[in-house]
Amino acid sequence: MTAGKPIIAAVSEEWERRCRRCGRCCFEKIDYQGEIYYTQTPCNRLDPTTRLCTVYGQRHRLRPDCVPLTPQIIAAGILPADCPYVQGLGGYRPPHLFPPDEELP
Ligand code: SF4
Repeated sequence: MTAGKPIIAAVSEEWERRCRRCGRCCFEKIDYQGEIYYTQTPCNRLDPTTRLCTVYGQRHRLRPDCVPLTPQIIAAGILPADCPYVQGLGGYRPPHLFPPDEELP
């Protein structure tokens, strides 16, 4: 932890650093009968080249359905299995691909 930095800010930075900016969680998802499926449709705020959000600092205001990655949301199964946020989570069930057998974009 950095000396002099407020603890909340330090924890928040460490949390944000886990993201490797692959953008895969920025594809629309469908909840079908309690199971989460990824679609091939990216969020309209995702830059397809950089794979970065174009409105990151304002994403929750501009896209109210873009939810903060809290531990509760993560456990709900919206992140791909190899995302660093879900590594080591026992019993984690990642989303299904849609259509089945497709590679994640
Ligand atoms: S899938 Fe995980 S690593 Fe990739 S952008 Fe989303 S949160 Fe970050």
